[in-house]
Amino acid sequence: MEKEEKIYVSVVVPVLNEEENIVELHERIYNSLSQNKWPFEIIYVNDGSTDQTQTILEKLYKTHPNVRVIELAVNCGQHLALMKGFEKAKGDIVITIDADLQNPPEEIPKLIEKIEEGYEVVGTYRKKRKDSIFRRIPSYFANRITSYLTGVKLRDYGCMLRAYRREVVNYMNMCGDTTTFIPVLANTFAKKIAEIEIEHEERKRGKTKYSLFKLLRLNFDIVTNFSIFPIQFIGFTGVIIAVLGLLFAIFLFVRRLIVGPEVEGIFTLFAILFFFIGVQILALGIIGEYVGRIYMEVKKRPRYIVKKELL
Ligand code: UDP
Ligand code: MG
Repeated sequence: MEKEEKIYVSVVVPVLNEEENIVELHERIYNSLSQNKWPFEIIYVNDGSTDQTQTILEKLYKTHPNVRVIELAVNCGQHLALMKGFEKAKGDIVITIDADLQNPPEEIPKLIEKIEEGYEVVGTYRKKRKDSIFRRIPSYFANRITSYLTGVKLRDYGCMLRAYRREVVNYMNMCGDTTTFIPVLANTFAKKIAEIEIEHEERKRGKTKYSLFKLLRLNFDIVTNFSIFPIQFIGFTGVIIAVLGLLFAIFLFVRRLIVGPEVEGIFTLFAILFFFIGVQILALGIIGEYVGRIYMEVKKRPRYIVKKELL
């Protein structure tokens, strides 16, 4: 049974083991949205939580007519959870927000205003990012690399409080990628992109759901999902190495003519050899990354398995 009405704003929240945060989060999103007269819905996508998250969400569903709950059978990652939410979102404007209250829900109206000015995607950057230095430094490089590879220069690709216009969400819904990174995916479908400054809070309750390894994987995803630059780079490096090798051979030949036969320098040769072996392994690894992705894609496993839908 779906609730039929014209929705203006859909807020999609991915939730993984956030039992301590949901009630406060819901209240704050609710208050922030009901100050205006927009008809809205809040879609919680439970990404395979193992704590009390689902029970709390179902309670919210029973007491609030504009709450939807989608429960995924197993954890499939923040971005796919959001994609599931997008499938069901009906609003003209779709907002994504983290469940851990690091992005204040009070900022949502600002994003809506910006979309109403005519932008198709509104991103945000965190004014004073309240995360550890070990998160901020890798993020700095990830943002620069992502901006370079995707051609859309944004200050903060990692901040997930963002707004999208209906059409952009429709286009994203047409994509069946098994791994994805929504801020980049959205930008490929938008011409008018804005980025506004928002507040950022520390995570007060619960732990971060991203281990170092998971973060690394996410960044690999961004690079390999949206560009084949690494493969082209390998080809380019190959050409440079071949040219250097040729120059070296000419150098040795000339030396041979001038100095005569030599046997020394064998260890130097080893060092050079090891370097190139390293380059080769790296190149194989990068190509392997793409082959692995093709493999995952051709298996055609479902992207997510829905256990329960309360719409
Ligand atoms: N999350 C999720 N599935 C995951 C990992 C995270 O749905 O596999 C949700 C999580 O509950 C939170 C948001 O994604 O609402 C961001 O996660 P987190 O705050 O742990 O990331 P961080 O702020 O540390 O980057
Ligand atoms: Mg967080």
